Amino acid sequence: MRLRPAAAAIVLTTVGCGGPSGDPSGPGTVTDEVLARAVPDGDWLTYGGSYAEDRFSPLDQITLDNVAELGLVWSYDFELRGGVETTPLVLDGVIYATGPWSVVHAIDARTGQRLWRHDPGVPRQRGRLACCDVVNRGAALYEGKVFVGTIDGRLVALDAETGRVEWETLTVDPDLAYTITGAPRVVEGLVVIGNGGAEYGVRGYVSAYDADDGALVWRTYTVPGNPADGFESEALARAAETWNGEWWTAGGGGTAWDAIIYDPELELLYIGTGNGSPWSRHLRSPGGGDNLFLASVLAVRPATGEYVWHYQTTPGDHWDYTATQPLMLADLEFDGALRRVIMQAPKNGFFYVLDAETGEFLSGQPYVTLNWADGIDVETGRPVERSEAVYDTEYALITPMTLGGHNFQPMAFHPETELVYLPVQEAWTRRASDPDWTFSGVEIRGDTLVSAPWNTATRGASAGRPASGSLVAWDPKAQESRWQVPLAGFWNGGVLATGGGLVFHGGGDGRFVAYDAATGESLWVAATRIGIIGSPVTYTVDGVQHVTVAAGWGGATGRSSSPYGEAADFDQRGRLFTFALGGSAEMPMPRRERPLYVPELELPTDAAALREGYELYSQYCVICHGGGGGSEGGMPNLQRATRLTHDNFEGIVLEGMREEEGMPSYRGLLSPEEVTLIQAYVVSRARAAVRAAETAEEEDPS
Ligand code: CA
Repeated sequence: MRLRPAAAAIVLTTVGCGGPSGDPSGPGTVTDEVLARAVPDGDWLTYGGSYAEDRFSPLDQITLDNVAELGLVWSYDFELRGGVETTPLVLDGVIYATGPWSVVHAIDARTGQRLWRHDPGVPRQRGRLACCDVVNRGAALYEGKVFVGTIDGRLVALDAETGRVEWETLTVDPDLAYTITGAPRVVEGLVVIGNGGAEYGVRGYVSAYDADDGALVWRTYTVPGNPADGFESEALARAAETWNGEWWTAGGGGTAWDAIIYDPELELLYIGTGNGSPWSRHLRSPGGGDNLFLASVLAVRPATGEYVWHYQTTPGDHWDYTATQPLMLADLEFDGALRRVIMQAPKNGFFYVLDAETGEFLSGQPYVTLNWADGIDVETGRPVERSEAVYDTEYALITPMTLGGHNFQPMAFHPETELVYLPVQEAWTRRASDPDWTFSGVEIRGDTLVSAPWNTATRGASAGRPASGSLVAWDPKAQESRWQVPLAGFWNGGVLATGGGLVFHGGGDGRFVAYDAATGESLWVAATRIGIIGSPVTYTVDGVQHVTVAAGWGGATGRSSSPYGEAADFDQRGRLFTFALGGSAEMPMPRRERPLYVPELELPTDAAALREGYELYSQYCVICHGGGGGSEGGMPNLQRATRLTHDNFEGIVLEGMREEEGMPSYRGLLSPEEVTLIQAYVVSRARAAVRAAETAEEEDPS
C-alpha cells in the first residue's frame, strides 16, 4: 500500500501553515499557544516536533514519487570532535543545532551560513564525567530565547537572535558527577531539565526553572534519599519502603537524562527515569525491593512537580535497563474505544502502551529478543522475571545488553499507518556482581575529576555473539512488527515520519535513507560517510520543504568503536546536512583516516615500563581513546597519530595544547615521566597493530 499524500494535506490545512510568524504575539515568537499546536507545520519548534513528541510532520511536498530528486543544499561543520545526537530546531528560517560540548549553533537555513555560535565553555576535564560522550541532544525555544543544558550541569538561556547569554543557572552539585545531555522542555513558562550520572553514583531529579529569569520553581527527585534527612514528599516516603540497606550512599540513580513530555489536556508531565546506582540490585538494595522510581515512567503536575502516578518497567533494575528512552503520546483505539496513550520502547526490550491519564498498563510485548523475562503479567503489569538472569557473583548471559534494545534514538509515529518507527539494536553481554565492591565516591578537584568509580557489576564481553541493528515499523495496537530493515550496525540515528508517506533515518554507516512508511522500501540514499546518530527534522524555507540531519559519530558506542561500512575509512567530525528537491550541492568528502604510524622516538620498550604505561592509560585515557589507543570511533585513534602529535605529546597531555578540540590537560594529575610511559605504551600498541596488519596480508592469498 502506498500512502495518499492528499490525506496528509488535509491535516496540514486544518492546523494552518503560517508558522509562528503568523502569530499575533509577534514574528518568530514561540508562545504557549504555538507550542500547543498538535503538529509541527513550517517550523520544527521542539525536540520531538510537538508536545506529543511523535516526530511526525504533515509536510508533503517531498513524496514517494519525487523523493529520488532530493539533493544536498548545504552542509555545516560542527568543528569540535564528539558525537552529534542533536535534533535541530527550526524557526523562521533559522536552525538551532547543538553539537559536542553543549555548543549551540544558529544557522541560516537558506545558506548554511553561521549566524552565531555559543560555546558555554565547559571545562574539558568535565568530559571525563560523561559516561557516554560529550553529546547534546537538543535545545528548546520559547519567547525569544534558546535554552540548552550543558555537560557540566548548567542551564543556559540565550537570546535567539544574537546568542547573547540572558541567564544561566547551575542545576547540579558540581562536586558530584552529574551531566546534562538531554534537551530542556518548556511547559507553561517553565524550563524543565533532568540530568545523567547514575553510572557515577548520583541521585536523579528533574528541575523546573522560570523561563524569564532562571529562578528554580520546583525540583522532584526520582529516588528517595537518606531517611535521616527527611523525605521531600509523601511519594518519596512511600518509595523508600521499596528500598533496603543504605542505598543513598551510592546515590541510588534513577537519573532522568532524556525523555520528558507534556500533555496539555491532561495537564501531566511525564518523566522517564534511569537505572539504579550501582547496577547490581544485590549491592544497591540488599534484601530486595522494587526500588521506586527506578526505570519508571513518572507522571507529575507540571506546575509543581507533584507526583501523580508511576509505572515501573523494570522493578529492582539489575541490568542498567533505564526507562529514559523517548516517550510519545498518541490517541489509539483499544477495545473499541479511543485511548490517550503513552508509548515507550525502553532499554529492557518490551514495547509499552500505557494509559496516559492513569498509568494503567495496556499492553507490552518484546520488540527485540530478550532473555531476562518471560513476558509481562497483564493483570499486574509486572514483568515475569527469569531467575537465571538475576546474576550474582556468577556470570549470566543477558540480552538486551546494557545499551538496551533501544537507546536515546528518537522514534516516530505516523498517524496514517498508525505505526511506530523504531531504531532497535541487539547484543548480548555477560554480567556478574563484584562481591567486594563498595562505593568509593567521586573525587573532583576544581574541574578535575580525580577518581570516578564506574558502576559495580563486572562488565563482561559481548559473549562472542554479533551485535546488530535494524529499523522496525511497530504496530502498537497489535504489538508486532510490520516490517524490519536490517542496518549496517548496532548504533544508529533517530527517525522522522512525514505527510509525504516517508520515513527518514540515518545509520551508523553514514547513509541517510528515505523509506516508504508503509513498506520499508528504500527510496533514496545520501552517503555522508560520517556515522549518523542525530535525528532528522523537516520544515519549509520560503515555502519549500527541506530535510536536515546531523551526522557525527560518537555517543555511548561510537566514542570508542568504529562506524560501519564506508564511514569506517573516514574522519568522523560532525556535520549538519540539509536536503531539498533539486538540491545540487556536492557532498563534502571527509578526510580519510590516516594510516597506522610508528614514530621513531627514544621511548622505553621494556615490559615493566609498558605495563606502567598501560595502567596509566587505562586510568586516564581509555574511556575516550579506546583500548590500546586504538579507538576507531569519534575520538582520535592514537595508533594513527602523526609525527606532529608525537612530537607534542607532552604539551597536548599536560599543557592543554588541544584543549579547544576537546582534549583536556592532565597537569597536576600526571608527571612528564608518566606521560612518556603512556606514549611508550601507545606506540607499542601501534607497532603491534602494524605487525598484525602485515601478518594478515601475508596470510591473505588474494
Ligand atoms: Ca545507565
